[in-house]
Amino acid sequence: MKMEVRTRFAPSPTGYMHIGNLRTALYEYLIAKSQGGKFILRIEDTDQERLVEGATDVIYNTLRMTGLHHDEGPDIGGDYGPYVQSERMGMYMDYAKELVEKGQAYYCFCTKERLESLKESNAEGAAFAKYDRHCLHLSPEEVQAKLDAGVPYVIRQKMPDSGTTTFTDVVYGEITVDNAELDDQILMKADGFPTYNFANVVDDHLMCITHVVRGSEYLSSTPKYNLLYEAFGWEPPVYVHLPAVMRDAHHKLSKRHGDKSFEDLINEGYLVDAIVNYIALLGWSPGDTREIFTLKELEECFDISGLSKSPSIFDIKKLTWMNGEYMKNMDFEKFYALAEPKLTEALGGTGLDLRKIAELLQKRLETLNDIPGLVGFFKELPEYGTELYTHKKMKTNDEIALSSLKAALPVLEGLADWNTQSIHDALMALVGELGIKNGQLLWPVRTALSGEPTSPGGAMELADILGREESLRRIRVGIEMLEK
Ligand code: GLU
Repeated sequence: MKMEVRTRFAPSPTGYMHIGNLRTALYEYLIAKSQGGKFILRIEDTDQERLVEGATDVIYNTLRMTGLHHDEGPDIGGDYGPYVQSERMGMYMDYAKELVEKGQAYYCFCTKERLESLKESNAEGAAFAKYDRHCLHLSPEEVQAKLDAGVPYVIRQKMPDSGTTTFTDVVYGEITVDNAELDDQILMKADGFPTYNFANVVDDHLMCITHVVRGSEYLSSTPKYNLLYEAFGWEPPVYVHLPAVMRDAHHKLSKRHGDKSFEDLINEGYLVDAIVNYIALLGWSPGDTREIFTLKELEECFDISGLSKSPSIFDIKKLTWMNGEYMKNMDFEKFYALAEPKLTEALGGTGLDLRKIAELLQKRLETLNDIPGLVGFFKELPEYGTELYTHKKMKTNDEIALSSLKAALPVLEGLADWNTQSIHDALMALVGELGIKNGQLLWPVRTALSGEPTSPGGAMELADILGREESLRRIRVGIEMLEK
């Protein structure tokens, strides 16, 4: 029987969702879902110093918003709980002791002072010094005597004395390290709590995780993890290490250096679906040039072999382009639901038809946050200079604009019905009468109505939305300006 694929997202609640973390979650989700498996959420909250109020909510919200629904987790339970690491603290000591019994780990009673002096006496004064295995050589009686006397201890992993450790990573291939390089790392701390390096192995095993997907910064610890699996006689998981997401060729994306988190992107008007789509391609390729994928489509076509080990650069321009594509191709009602709050914020109380404005905007937006800047002129005619009336392609200049506006004014004043069609028909008839090019009339009218060098919508749409009174007023303003 084929084993069920189980992946886990194991975030530490830091208070924001780093793009790299979201990508890890997405790949974990996709690896599971593309193979009919389960995606598990485990909150790794044991680093008390890093704990932030409300930080787990950020995790839940992000997973909900992005549609990366987990099958097991702290909020929904499951057969392998608890799913919050701090609630599992009682589970590790027995496993550590099992390793001691197997000769794969040992008690260490060294004082802080002794360990410090080890560091200092380390030849080059390196910041990191391997533990010198002082306590490995204690006899069982000595150990027992110290335990009985209540001497504080840690439990260390006993690394092999010689040889090498090899494991295969799906992305990075076969990796071999010299065991001599491996430190006898601490598994259980003096306070009785496990180190992260121990807890994650025990947790992954107990939760039957088949694929461990994490950032490549964990690659160097993986030999030690692998040795732990071996020491217990457990089946190691498939390792999938992901290269860092980069800001540029040399720097990792980092929140501390101002790079955007998922929440930042949402606040900047990016769509969840576009972000997820973009992030999917940051290190994975479908094998062809296709770029637009819904999450559902990704679930169907994701394949672990498409992961790449070259670091990807987070390109906001590309995301912005993709976001625009999503907005263009979105069902109008869905788009309107997203745009409406921004439109109300910019134009609330003006009585303008926001749906009509949204229709004009949908094909031209890159992000929702572009909305206020694009629609401000509807509320108030901006101050503008008459140079806007000069447009080479439209073959207009001040003079032509003035005569066109003067001709358009009485025609529009006399219109019985005020709507896009009637305005269109009237202006086009006027173009014919005057024997000029369309642009020579429409550009000046559009400019007078918007006071902007470009606008969503042309003369007819703007006039329709602004209404008769306001449109006529703006055309008169234009005439006055051009007459000066
Ligand atoms: N809590 C770890 C982190 O947020 C998880 C690493 C892992 O996936 O094992 O970096």
